[in-house]
Amino acid sequence: MFQLICNGALMEVGRSAFLVDTGVEKIVMDYGTKVRTTPPQFPIPIQGKPDVILLSHAHLDHSGGLPIFYANEHSVPIYGIEITKALSELLLRDSIKISTEEGVHLPFDVGDLNETLKNFIPINFRKPFKLKKTQVTAFDAGHIPGSAMFLLEFGGKKLLYTGDYNTDDTRLIKKNDDKIPEVDYLITESTYAERDHLNRKEQEKEMNEIANDTIKSGGVCVISGFAVGRLQEVLLILNKLGIDFPVYMDGMAKSATTIMNKWKSLMRNPDELDEALSKVQYVNSDNMRKKIVKKPCVILTTSGMLTGGAVVQYIKRLYDDRKSSLLLTGYQLEDTPGKMLLETGRYISKGMNLELKMFVKRLDFSAHVGKTGLYDFIKKVNPQKIFCIHGDHTDEFAGALKEKEGYDAVAPAANNRIFEL
Ligand SMILES: [Zn+2]
Ligand SMILES: [Zn+2]
Repeated sequence: MFQLICNGALMEVGRSAFLVDTGVEKIVMDYGTKVRTTPPQFPIPIQGKPDVILLSHAHLDHSGGLPIFYANEHSVPIYGIEITKALSELLLRDSIKISTEEGVHLPFDVGDLNETLKNFIPINFRKPFKLKKTQVTAFDAGHIPGSAMFLLEFGGKKLLYTGDYNTDDTRLIKKNDDKIPEVDYLITESTYAERDHLNRKEQEKEMNEIANDTIKSGGVCVISGFAVGRLQEVLLILNKLGIDFPVYMDGMAKSATTIMNKWKSLMRNPDELDEALSKVQYVNSDNMRKKIVKKPCVILTTSGMLTGGAVVQYIKRLYDDRKSSLLLTGYQLEDTPGKMLLETGRYISKGMNLELKMFVKRLDFSAHVGKTGLYDFIKKVNPQKIFCIHGDHTDEFAGALKEKEGYDAVAPAANNRIFEL
């Protein structure tokens, strides 16, 4: 007997948090935020002190609430792949900085973050380690560098928590680990449970064409994306298809790229990343931004959903330039400026309400498993029971798994989140 308590990512993408209580130990898996809300929303609080935290990857919807434990003066070891510590630190420091600037109260401060980082214990993929009763193995989830799935084995049972994962190679990293055993319980992300991704090759070609056409007509092509994973992927695509224009990188992507370059073994092709980076110039000041938008170029910048970051500076300068273009390269959550822009053609944020005359398009370079991959993965690990989390349509997904595939599947919700297993 054990208890699974789902404290977040309940029928939504954001604030992932799960607790496995084996009776001997309390294991928390991820503790994130719903980042694009102001103030950020946190998971349902965990009762009592956990024994350990397993961190699947650095993205804030998985890591953003971790300092809360240390603000509450709990000192809990956090296990994760080493690069995850560095990338989480980057994202968490930035989120504290932005909250402070915007006068948003967070339930922790920089001191709590420093405490959090001191408790980090690096682990390796495919090297099992033992807690009191539970054996834990981290498998490569193929989502961003360092992203892990966790296999928990206790009392003769196997439970797999996927975190975010990808069953296809990207240019930056390889797909998820193949050798994952069959399990009894599966907690799976469901971001794209409803649809498959657009054809990757065609998306790459389209981005390259838009970039080249923009340059030819004398405009600036701004490509916005997430700092950790996505913009490096975009750069690798541009490099593969041929860069013969100036490329700049702005915002947090610079620091994220520097971190990734330190863990080359996690990259699919480190030499290619080196080669691509040799063609990039980093933007260091607003003065430089002012200068570079005057000539045709490509600018890779954050943030992915246009909620802030350097991309806002470029929108301000280029919004009514018909020769320029703005490409969004990731998932756009409801109510974000990115989503609203795609729907209305207007950038509405931070006191601005601009009609964009520059060309705007969303391309699909997702690092999440698509619908077919999700079903294939589930068949492979063949669970007795499935918990569908981290998606906007988890209920429909669990229903489809039950009715069409005959699985015992559930979408945990606020009123149905504690399971005795
Ligand atoms: Zn993620
Ligand atoms: Zn996520």
